[in-house]
Amino acid sequence: MNKWTYLFEEGNASMRDILGGKGANLAEMTLLGLPIPHGFTITTEACMDYFAYNNKIREEIIEQTLVSLKKIEEKQGKIFGDDENPLLVSVRSGARASMPGMMDTILNLGLNDKSVKGLAKRTNNIRFAYDSYRRFIQMFSDVVMGLEKTKFEEVLSKIKKEKGLKYDSELTETDLKFVVSQYKRFYHENLGVEFPQDPKEQLFLAIEAVFKSWNNKRAIFYRRMNDIPNDWGTAVNIQSMVFGNMGETSGTGVAFTRNPANGKNELYGEYLINAQGEDVVAGIRTPSPISKLEEDLPECYAEFKRIAKVLENHYHDMQDMEFTIENGKLFFLQTRNGKRTATAALEIACDMFDEGMITKEEALLRIEAKTLDQLLHPKFDDKALKNAEVIGQGLPASPGAACGKVYFTARAAKIAKKKKEKVVLVRVETSPEDIEGMHIAEGTLTAHGGMTSHAAVVARGMGTTCVSGCNECQIDEVNKVMYLGGKTIHEGDYISLDGNTGKIYYGKVETTPAVIAGNFGRVMSWANEVKRLKVKTNADTVADATMAKKFGAEGIGLCRSEHMFFKEDKIFALRRMILARNDEERAEPLKELLRFQKNDFKGLFEVMGEHSVTIRLIDPPLHEFLPKDGFDKIAEAMGRDVKEVIEHCESLHEFNPMIGNRGCRLCVTYPDIARMQTRAIMEAAIEVKEQTNYNIIPQIMIPLVDDLTELKFVKGICIDEINKVFAEQETEIPYEIGTMIETPRAAILSDEIATEAEFFSFGTNDLTQMTFGLSRDDAPRVLEAYYKNNIYESDPFAKLDQKGVGKLIEMSVKLGHKTRPNIETGVCGEHGGEPSSIEFVNSIGVDYVSCSPYRVPIAILSAAQAEIKRKKMQ
Ligand code: PEP
Ligand code: MG
Repeated sequence: MNKWTYLFEEGNASMRDILGGKGANLAEMTLLGLPIPHGFTITTEACMDYFAYNNKIREEIIEQTLVSLKKIEEKQGKIFGDDENPLLVSVRSGARASMPGMMDTILNLGLNDKSVKGLAKRTNNIRFAYDSYRRFIQMFSDVVMGLEKTKFEEVLSKIKKEKGLKYDSELTETDLKFVVSQYKRFYHENLGVEFPQDPKEQLFLAIEAVFKSWNNKRAIFYRRMNDIPNDWGTAVNIQSMVFGNMGETSGTGVAFTRNPANGKNELYGEYLINAQGEDVVAGIRTPSPISKLEEDLPECYAEFKRIAKVLENHYHDMQDMEFTIENGKLFFLQTRNGKRTATAALEIACDMFDEGMITKEEALLRIEAKTLDQLLHPKFDDKALKNAEVIGQGLPASPGAACGKVYFTARAAKIAKKKKEKVVLVRVETSPEDIEGMHIAEGTLTAHGGMTSHAAVVARGMGTTCVSGCNECQIDEVNKVMYLGGKTIHEGDYISLDGNTGKIYYGKVETTPAVIAGNFGRVMSWANEVKRLKVKTNADTVADATMAKKFGAEGIGLCRSEHMFFKEDKIFALRRMILARNDEERAEPLKELLRFQKNDFKGLFEVMGEHSVTIRLIDPPLHEFLPKDGFDKIAEAMGRDVKEVIEHCESLHEFNPMIGNRGCRLCVTYPDIARMQTRAIMEAAIEVKEQTNYNIIPQIMIPLVDDLTELKFVKGICIDEINKVFAEQETEIPYEIGTMIETPRAAILSDEIATEAEFFSFGTNDLTQMTFGLSRDDAPRVLEAYYKNNIYESDPFAKLDQKGVGKLIEMSVKLGHKTRPNIETGVCGEHGGEPSSIEFVNSIGVDYVSCSPYRVPIAILSAAQAEIKRKKMQ
């Protein structure tokens, strides 16, 4: 018989695959002898079994759950469902990877009309018992039955308003009894049945709801954003309740062992007296900073500090902990490695290395590579900031500079973003439903909530700016307007948020580029020591190449030479060249293009110095170069009839441009372009070499090759032109001619192709398109439906499909080496800057990755992490 449930004392931290992160850590903390309320975990396997078993909980799982529950009853000396002495439990989700706020939690389960009285009598606290019951009804109705929780909040707000109260904690026992009756009435009116009184029924409905929450919309979105597989499932943790809402010596909080925003080594967090867990995270009341606990409950604070240190030392990482104090006794409910900003990640990794807690390699693995992006973003310009008008102050929940138009719902924000607007999402408080809106927004502002509110935690995880808890901000969602600092701000007006200071500015504030220094430089140099892969950049301009070099690029792996044509004067010359009817008409524009390109290439060689520069011959579909208007100007320049020029353009129309006349096919149909580009490259290289004495070896790359004969043909044109340049200049320099592997055919025939190609560069954008037979331009629409139906977990154009496309690359690398043992191989598609793809190509012996300048640091760190992991596996 399969084992579906584990008591906390039966597990440990290494069992996260089946117990989930929360379950495994609760087990580990139990082993460490820390104060953890008793409980057990239903495995992630049970969750996947639930889906496989037609969305039903198997009898065996039900039986084992009841047996485990019995053991908890014995340990606690209470009975689940008992009228006099009821055991109440929490039911919480917990996947292998932490997904804060994405799935569901139910507290105080086991209460009903009878046991609430028993609880009141036993604890001698009627107020507490009914407060717990009303919370339970609300959570159960929301999470299990899908009733909107705002409706319950409305009921509560109405009662508070009638009585002139501000906080829930001010409600009396009579008020709370009334709230409970109103909640139950609301439940009955909406669902047509009474609120379930049988605790076992409550329990299994709750377990089922947690299983189902694995596939709610926001969890699916979060998984896709964070590369979490669909088939991991979530565990369910069932734990006996401890109560933070028992009065003034009770409370609940969330804290980090170090500051998750800037990484400082200080206890950081907040708590609420007389409250339950969701009050802190939901940001309904603004909590007190953890340091104040020293005044309120000094013994608990000292104990908390001690255990926090134990946990950090044990896990060798910054911990994010949840705790509850029940009548002066401290309990830990969770610990996990805390989410943090990139600044904090660098600070914590460097500090822990300096403290001797972790090695350099461990320090590198602590930093999530893709978050480095946050450090490269612009900051507010100091001068502009001085002149900007501050209209409010909130908490600096997640750093960065955000400037955009205000929108009050995630939906409106998404619509605006589609219109390419920059957006600031403004909410009273965020809930997990807002995650997509927060993701596309430059920043998020909330009126309620502290530093560990949902908005703050999620924004830090995503690396977007957030200012939370700006209490003076009044938001009128219905009329789409906010009032702050004497200003009335309508939907669509600009505001700016400083996530480092928590200040809110009126209108737009100018930004300046980020400066790279300190811990960042230190971590980059560690990564460079460790990595095996070279990291080059995709750059077509001197500005991009300069920036990439500053970020650490070791060459240009891909210069898309056609991008240099897109300026107006250049495209005009190119169009005249394409539309030329004979050599005579072609000669003049070609001369002009040569001048332009030679200058551009010289700029790149000068910036890169001794580093390699790989220039790809013209690639994209012909139609991108053809005019859509202004035919008269071209006709005039060429001395032709306008109608005839229009007809000529129309005759070049293609049905499937992405698989039409592009890549090396353009060089076959327009060999003059290949000649001109080769000449421009070689003349530029010779001139810069003479001026600078750099050892320049230009690499000419031929795109979209299918066959050896085709490659030979284009290479022949290049060599012919190179020899002409050498003869004219009476000098020779070394050069290399290679190819892109972008079609499955080229990958399969790589041994043949390597007879002529001196290097391979995998154009994984096209290779993905051609392998899937799915157009790069049309994929997003198709993929949306695929994610929804759990067919694909991630976008194969963003994250390399290792199974299919990866197999082709692996085969191509092997075949290439068979023919030419020293052949250099690299990846220059979008995947060259994506961490999981980098890990894969590192494992199959590719030599370099090439990515856009802003992703160079991400690629450097990912390459180091990939190599550390590879060595560990050996
Ligand atoms: C590719 O196809 O991966 C590539 C780098 O070329 P492009 O994106 O320019 O087609
Ligand atoms: Mg391509």
